Amino acid sequence: MAMNQDEVRRYLRFYSDLGVKEIYKRGSAAAPAQAREPLAEPIPDPVAKFAAKTSKAEIVLPPLAPSDDTLEKIRETIGDCKRCRLCEQRSKIVFGSGNQHAKIVFVGEGPGADEDAQGLPFVGRAGQLLTQMIENTAAKEGIPIKRADVYICNVVKCRPPENRTPLPDEMEICGEFLFRQLMTIRPRAICALGSTAAKALLATKDGVTRLRGHWHKWRDIPVMVTYHPSYLLRPYNQNAKREAWEDLKTVLHYVYD
Ligand code: URA
Repeated sequence: MAMNQDEVRRYLRFYSDLGVKEIYKRGSAAAPAQAREPLAEPIPDPVAKFAAKTSKAEIVLPPLAPSDDTLEKIRETIGDCKRCRLCEQRSKIVFGSGNQHAKIVFVGEGPGADEDAQGLPFVGRAGQLLTQMIENTAAKEGIPIKRADVYICNVVKCRPPENRTPLPDEMEICGEFLFRQLMTIRPRAICALGSTAAKALLATKDGVTRLRGHWHKWRDIPVMVTYHPSYLLRPYNQNAKREAWEDLKTVLHYVYD
């Protein structure tokens, strides 16, 4: 997408307001693919990742979000989305739910069958476990919050067929809306549930086992990665369950102490 001078100015002002001080210039379109530098891994910032993947000589920044963005506007922009193949088999778009002023946002992978039918995130078995994890951990730690106090959403808003992992282009297209949700809510911390959420937010190839238990950052917001509740539902993952509870305790205390 080529931009004229005015658009470039608006982009730069918007990202400068957000505290993004560096921009990235695409390499020459004439350069043969094999001559390009391989991408460094991990790329720490989704903004950098977006810019680094493009190939024509122009200034590239993530899609523009209005500075007075709201969750309602983001949902309106999504509309009856047909931007990728996931629209073909979905019943309902699952935008997200919870407190729009939440201090913590949980990010999952994508809707499953129950979520697709109801249009709400994490309402199936994995969702019930997530609710228990949030509410029981908070209660045990003396933190007075319920599920309704946090915000919950996914990387992709439409159910992937057979619950397959979202493909990179699907994550990239829908990631625009996830990033706008996070920029709008501006939580104190984000909890990435599973490797798809971790990949989308941290642009890393590392798995959850390696990433969990430590703080990372999406832009300037601390991110804790932990196991996806679906993984914890498998009976042989008891150790992971204990670790996930530890991760959750860490996030809740960071946010609410
Ligand atoms: N798994 C997810 O990643 N998200 C949901 O909303 C439900 C299950």
